[in-house]
Amino acid sequence: MEKVALLKCTDYDVDNIEKKLREGFELLGGDSFLKELIPENSKVLLKPNFLSVIEKGSPVITHYAVFEAVVRIVKEYSSNIVFGDSPGSGDTKKAAEKSGLMEVAERYGVRFVDFNDQTHVELKNPIMYKFWNIAKAPYEADVVITLPKLKTHAMMYYTGAVKNQFGCVPGSQKAAWHTKLPDAVNFSKMLLDLNSVVKTSFAILDGIIAMEGNGPRNGTPKKMDTIIMGKCLTAVDSTAVRLIGYDNVLSIPILKVAHDTKWGAVMPEEIEILGEKVENMKCKNFKLSRNAKVINFVSPSLNNFVASLTAPNPVVIEEKCIGCRKCSEVCPEKPKVISFVKHNNKVIPKWNYSNCIRCFCCQELCPKGAIITKNKQLSKMLGLK
Ligand code: SF4
Ligand code: SF4
Repeated sequence: MEKVALLKCTDYDVDNIEKKLREGFELLGGDSFLKELIPENSKVLLKPNFLSVIEKGSPVITHYAVFEAVVRIVKEYSSNIVFGDSPGSGDTKKAAEKSGLMEVAERYGVRFVDFNDQTHVELKNPIMYKFWNIAKAPYEADVVITLPKLKTHAMMYYTGAVKNQFGCVPGSQKAAWHTKLPDAVNFSKMLLDLNSVVKTSFAILDGIIAMEGNGPRNGTPKKMDTIIMGKCLTAVDSTAVRLIGYDNVLSIPILKVAHDTKWGAVMPEEIEILGEKVENMKCKNFKLSRNAKVINFVSPSLNNFVASLTAPNPVVIEEKCIGCRKCSEVCPEKPKVISFVKHNNKVIPKWNYSNCIRCFCCQELCPKGAIITKNKQLSKMLGLK
């Protein structure tokens, strides 16, 4: 039975968050749990979610107050702490500065590492991929603590503890993975293998203010007053998706694959939830990115075929678009799916949907939130929203 701590935290006051995190660690086993998690003299890497160069306090990225509260506790067990990420776009150092995390890190003597240095490693007993190019910093750390945000995600439905480690893939290689693995099931296998390579030790999921709707970047902030923490990443994610309305946790691709491959605990009966009760913490009317029923088909190939017919299309909200062409730059497909046309004296993107793999990198990284996903008629008919 995997244990997770489910905590109610109503604001981003750092002292309050620290108090809640200490309560969570107490529930999980207290000082002895922490000593086992962070052995003496170990090098600890904190892996926040930067996504891009984004203003501090935004619900898109790991909140600086959560980061500070975590640092205060981890510092009692290690004097060798680093933090870093490889965001989907933009300069990592600028992202760390803008997010407010760099300032916190400097105050506490936590070193910034960018994820540009890579290493080539072999994973024993993978679900899918044996050989990996990943960032050196997380691979060489003794303890990796992931600090994700709770958000919707157009491709993966939800992003949290498992998905946050995609930032351990350096820079442009992320786009290559999208091209190689256009469907959510195989992409999930890759993400789980990646977490096995990195040996992610612990997750602290920030759902104090989560994101609903057009996530992971351009959705709507949703106050959920929630922190979830635990060693088992899939147990943390499974608990989170139950809170936002996915009663069938297997409808989330990462969790379905983790369950089928026995990668981690996924089913509610495999998870002991300490602290608050799920029923009391459920968020009413959370706006999901999309319904995930398609993943329940028995055959993976049928799954993928139906998903390709029902996956939504990225579309532009013309009034918000500034014609910066970022969406085309981040699109991993060649030839490019996005071209630009003049309309109402503006230059706006136009998609060739037959070549689009629905990775939604364009939607995720549009700096103006000008791209949303639009469900197709067939998916509406099938009750997939
Ligand atoms: S849709 Fe977004 S990324 Fe694309 S051109 Fe418009 S503002 Fe830029
Ligand atoms: S157009 Fe957008 S969703 Fe389609 S492949 Fe390119 S980045 Fe992915």
